[in-house]
Order: sequence, then C-alpha cells, then structure tokens
Amino acid sequence: MRWTKVAAAGITSASIWAITAQVAVQTPAPAPPHLRAVIFLDPAHGGADGGAKVGDSVLEKAVTLELANRIRPLLSARGFDVRMTREGDPTPTPTTDQRAGLQNQAHPAACIILHSAPTGTGVHIYTSALPEATIIPATSIVPWDEAQSTYIASSLRLSSEISTAFSRSQIPVSSGRTWMPPLDNLLCPAIAIEIASLNADGSKPPTDAGYQQRVAEAIAGAVLFWHGKIDPTMGAAQ
Ligand SMILES: [Zn+2]
Repeated sequence: MRWTKVAAAGITSASIWAITAQVAVQTPAPAPPHLRAVIFLDPAHGGADGGAKVGDSVLEKAVTLELANRIRPLLSARGFDVRMTREGDPTPTPTTDQRAGLQNQAHPAACIILHSAPTGTGVHIYTSALPEATIIPATSIVPWDEAQSTYIASSLRLSSEISTAFSRSQIPVSSGRTWMPPLDNLLCPAIAIEIASLNADGSKPPTDAGYQQRVAEAIAGAVLFWHGKIDPTMGAAQ
C-alpha cells in the first residue's frame, strides 16, 4: 500500500489523462466473430454407413443429422461458432480419424458426437474411458489414440452440466465412460450423446421432432452455462 501512496502523490493532470486513456484502451471489446468459441457437432455415420435402424424406415445417420441441425441454430443464437463434421450424406463416409482431424484443426471449445439407438430409454452421455493424463509439456507429442486423456476433467464437467439439463427437462439420462473413436482422438472437451426413445414403451422415438427439439434445447442451454464458467462473456448468468 505504501507504493500506491507514493505513486498517487506523483500524479499530475497530464498523467491522470494518460492513465484514463490507458484504461479505455484496456477495456475488453466484444470478440469479433472470427474469435467466437467453436463448438463442433459430429452427427455420426453418414453415406454408406447408415448406422442402426432407428425407426421403421429411418436410419441412425438421418436422426443424428436432424438432431445436429436442431442444435446448430440454438448454439449459434447463443453466440457460438457452430461447425459440423458433415452437413449432408457424404460419400465416401468420413472416417472417425478424418472427423477427429477436422475437429482438432479448429481448436474447438467443445466437441459433441451424436448417435441414436433403437433400444433403451432416454439419453446416454459418454465420456472417454481413457485415464486422465497429467499435464503434458507443450513439446511432447500426444499419441493419437490418447489425445482425449488431457481433457478428461473438462469433458466430465461438460457431461455433468448436460446431464443436469436433461434431468431438468425430464428426459431420462444416464452416463458412462467408454473407448470410442473419435472421442478418444479429440483435443478438446468432448462427449458423445446417444438418443433413444423418450419413454420405456417406445413412444416418442428418437425420430420424434418435439422430443429432438427438447434434447437440442437442453444441450444448447447446458453448453452455454458450461462455457460461461470458463468465459464469463458468454453469459453463464443468463
Ligand atoms: Zn451410432
């Protein structure tokens, strides 16, 4: 505190102006669009890889893309730069390694892989089963199959926020850990979400538009809340 008093005694009107100007310059400006946090959505399967048969005539690849297309505008409206590993039904189907590479290049704030299941109830959230790695020096090379290991803690926090959001939306939710490409290859907080029928009797299947929208809204709200804890300018308090 002594240093402060000495410094204050030496302030002239000119130096006060200079300090004021300096403070103005240091006021953080809103992040330009190209610096917005990237959220990558990975609708699993696609092309020749249809995934599971989810409805009478609906393949999993269509459900995952539809769900991603519902999540995307909700996250964009919340200020995120949302990207997708596929926007259509590409041929050849991108491999899991290609999907991971695409996502890692973007240095995303989070990656969300989407799957759908013909059996089970509600939504299951997976995080990587890789053991959590200690901090790896910047000069070290992280093995491709263990890339996710340094993000386990933040991935589990993301999973927890989204799980809470599903519960609030009265969507049955369970969570677990698994070895699953490209989840293990991602260099960011990452989870996989698998959507099954809302009800145990099979009513409200994953193809149900209203159910999909509830799932999408829960995810978008939780991602904003989770990311707001890291970057308060993203509005965690909203
Ligand atoms: Zn799948």
